[in-house]
Amino acid sequence: QAKDQGRNTYRLFTREMNQKVMQRVSMEASLRQALEKGEFRVYYQPQVDLNTGSMVGAEALLRWEHPGKGLLGPDEFIPLAESSGLIVPIGEWVLAQACSQARSWHDQGFRGLLVSVNLSPRQFQQPNLVSQIRSILTQTGLDPSCLELEVTESVVMQNVEDAILTMSRLCKLGVRLSLDDFGRGYSSLYYLKRFPMHTLKIDRSFVRDITLDQAGAAIVNTIIDMSGNLSLKVVAEGVETKEQLQFLKINRCDQMQGFLFCRPIPQKDLTTLMTEGKKLDLCVA
Ligand code: C2E
Ligand code: MG
Ligand code: MG
Ligand code: MG
Repeated sequence: QAKDQGRNTYRLFTREMNQKVMQRVSMEASLRQALEKGEFRVYYQPQVDLNTGSMVGAEALLRWEHPGKGLLGPDEFIPLAESSGLIVPIGEWVLAQACSQARSWHDQGFRGLLVSVNLSPRQFQQPNLVSQIRSILTQTGLDPSCLELEVTESVVMQNVEDAILTMSRLCKLGVRLSLDDFGRGYSSLYYLKRFPMHTLKIDRSFVRDITLDQAGAAIVNTIIDMSGNLSLKVVAEGVETKEQLQFLKINRCDQMQGFLFCRPIPQKDLTTLMTEGKKLDLCVA
C-alpha cells in the first residue's frame, strides 16, 4: 500500500514537473516569436515636475499582447526573457521604439520631453551596449540628453568597477543615468558617490510608507535630502495618494510618477494628454 502510494506520488510529481517544463518551453517559444509577430507594446507613464505640475518625461514600460493570454505585464515574462537571453533583442527593440517615439514627440512640439528606458542586468552587461545605443541615437536623431537609462542597484552592484566603466561610457554619449528602485537593493553610499548618475528613483515601497508612520516619512525625507546634496534629481515612484503627494512637495522632491496622476498608457493616449496640457493638481491642502 505504502509502496503504491509512493509510486503514485512519484508519478504525479514527474507529471507536474513535466508540465512546468513544457509550459516554460512553450512560453519561451512564443516569447521568441513575439518580436517578429509584433506582439510587444511600449506603454508610457508620465513623470511630473512637482514645482509646476507639468509632464516633463515618460517612462517606457513593456507590455506583451499575448494572442491567448491578453495583455501581459513585464513581471509575467521579463524573468524568462532575462534567463533565456531574449531580453537582449527585446530590450534593443524597446530602446529603438522609445527613442523614435521621443523624437516624434519633440517634432510635434513637446520639446525637451525626456524618455526613460529600463535596462536589465543582461543588457547592461552586453559588451556592445554603448555602440548599440549610440547607433539608435544616430538613427532616430534623438538628442542624447533626452534619453534616460534606468538601472537598479543589483545591476550596478554585481561588478562595481565594470559597472562604473560602462556608466562612464554611457555618460560620454550624453545620455542620462538613473538609479531605479533605490532603497530596495543594497548599494552603499560610498558607491553612490562614485556612480556617474543623474537621477535617483525612490522605490515604491518607501513612498507607500510615507503616511504609515514617522519612520516611513523620515526615510523618504532623508533620501530626498541626500539626493539634493549629491546634486541628483530625485523622482518618487508609485505615488497613489494626495497625502503622499503633499509630503513629497513640501519636502522638495523634484518629480513624481504614479497612478495618482496617470497609469502607464499607450503612446497615442500620452500624446492626447500632452496635447490637452494635462497638469497635476498641486493644490493638495
Ligand atoms: P519599474 O522600472 O520600477 O517601473 C515602475 C513600475 O511601477 C511599473 O510596473 C509601473 O506600472 C508601476 N507603477 C507606477 N506607478 C504606480 C503606482 O502608483 N502604484 C503601483 N502599484 N504601481 C505603479 P510595470 O510596468 O509592471 O513594470 C514592472 C517592472 O518591469 C519595471 O519596474 C521594470 O523593472 C520592468 N520593466 C518594464 N519594462 C521594461 C523593459 O522594457 N525592459 C526591462 N529590462 N525591464 C522592464
Ligand atoms: Mg524603471
Ligand atoms: Mg522603479
Ligand atoms: Mg519597480
